[in-house]
Amino acid sequence: MSDHSDVSVPTRVEIYDTTLRDGSQLEGISLTVDDKLRIAEQLDWLGVDYIEAGWPGANPKDDEVFRRAASELALASSVLVAFGSTRRPKGKVDSDDTLRHLLDANTSTVCIVGKAWDYHVTEALQTTLDEGEAMVAESVEFLHDAGRAVFFDAEHFFDGYRRNPEFSLRVLEAAAENGATRLVLCDTNGGTLPHDIERIVREVVTYFSKDVGVAVHLHDDAGTGVANALAGVRGGAIQVQGTINGYGERTGNCNLTTIIPNLTLKMGIETIPRDRLERLTPVAHHVAELVNMALNPQAPYVGESAFAHKAGLHVSAIVKRPDAYEHVPPDSVGNGTRFVVSELAGRSTILLKAQELGLQLDGPQVNDVVDTLKQMEHEGYHFEVADASLELLMRRASGWSQPWFEVESFRVITDDLQTEVTPGGVATEATIKVHLGGDRIVATAEGNGPVNALDSALRSALGSRYAALDRVHLTDYKVRVLDTAKGTGAVTRVLIDSTNGDRTWTTIGVSENIIEASWQALYDSLVYGLLLGAGDHKERSAPQHAD
Ligand SMILES: [Zn+2]
Repeated sequence: MSDHSDVSVPTRVEIYDTTLRDGSQLEGISLTVDDKLRIAEQLDWLGVDYIEAGWPGANPKDDEVFRRAASELALASSVLVAFGSTRRPKGKVDSDDTLRHLLDANTSTVCIVGKAWDYHVTEALQTTLDEGEAMVAESVEFLHDAGRAVFFDAEHFFDGYRRNPEFSLRVLEAAAENGATRLVLCDTNGGTLPHDIERIVREVVTYFSKDVGVAVHLHDDAGTGVANALAGVRGGAIQVQGTINGYGERTGNCNLTTIIPNLTLKMGIETIPRDRLERLTPVAHHVAELVNMALNPQAPYVGESAFAHKAGLHVSAIVKRPDAYEHVPPDSVGNGTRFVVSELAGRSTILLKAQELGLQLDGPQVNDVVDTLKQMEHEGYHFEVADASLELLMRRASGWSQPWFEVESFRVITDDLQTEVTPGGVATEATIKVHLGGDRIVATAEGNGPVNALDSALRSALGSRYAALDRVHLTDYKVRVLDTAKGTGAVTRVLIDSTNGDRTWTTIGVSENIIEASWQALYDSLVYGLLLGAGDHKERSAPQHAD
């Protein structure tokens, strides 16, 4: 692509996070005030420039976020931003509720959205273009006069600019002339492609010269959210807005966990402090945990599979020359190389895996693992997707056994309680007998299903003895019925995903009996959680609070 102007690519780009406002529009996300404050701490620890924390006045929750943020958040690196909109049509700025709420939020910086597409002014607002421009001009002026740094979010900018560039630029000018320090070009419908983003951003940057900074706010509707942000930066944008893990309505926002390393590692542009780039993976996982959505394993840079190599010819080559097989060093973003082990694995892969886990296996032990894996995968186990179970299996092969508890037996009962008192009620109860430091403990618990009841019973038996278990919970439970060659009955494979807030892991169980399969996966999950908690395992953990 050739440059048509003297606009140069910036050497530093501000990162503006809107996970708490735009990101929380994603279906299935419902954040409490506490969640939002915890996410803000993570963002500050990561070192983003701005944290857009919500829309004061829009709902009581966001009001509380700003109220509590003032006393509870000690932000060391980030600036908190309150979001709102311009005054209403034909209204007065000094009697406008939205603007008053923005000031009440008491942040140094505010971001207000206004219409930059003529069609929206005449059709959605049902007002004139002059009034549309005045709404922007007066609102920015009002907030600026009240001592706020004002960012102006030009809604539907790219769509508007394509149809009526004169009006879209007029709106930006109104914002800039009245004190806005950032003009945020929004691709609100998210369908614009990178080459158009780059061209239009460059035209706007050229038009305003160096008077005001241009920012981009982009959505992923065409699957090019991150590419669009890179294009925007090439066009001269000095701020990128987006969300952790790309959360946002529809297909999401520009994914900051991808754009930050792209800008830093590939384009040599400063974003967050360089020495904090390795916090990216823990923050992505921690935020995923707080929004209660499993992180996509294939997420670039931060996903579990981002640097996973399947066993094969090139495994030993990767160890010798990792740069030949990985586009960036995984630890630069806080992730790690992982060797995926399956029945195809030979001795060399097992040895590498042992090395990765810090285990000493001798020759016969390696042979044992290879044989056991082959046998178990034949029975229906699939260790490629159950790293934690694989690790436990390899540890056991090295002579390790878990020191925390010993299970004597368990029993699960499910009762159909179709009575008039409990119509449609089904009750599940689990009883477990455990030996714990010389004591024999019998514990019973109810649950909404066998896995839940067993989980509760085992935790109840262990009591409060192991604090690490309090942080462990199950996030997903998958059952698959496998065809068997034997034809004697279906074999069930159970996969359980678990997390302790910093790490997620998967365990597996296989049996003709679904309860037995579930138990195996559950047992491994809790033992692995204890193993992580015991600290004799390399951890990638994020501190709970900003440093
Ligand atoms: Zn948006």
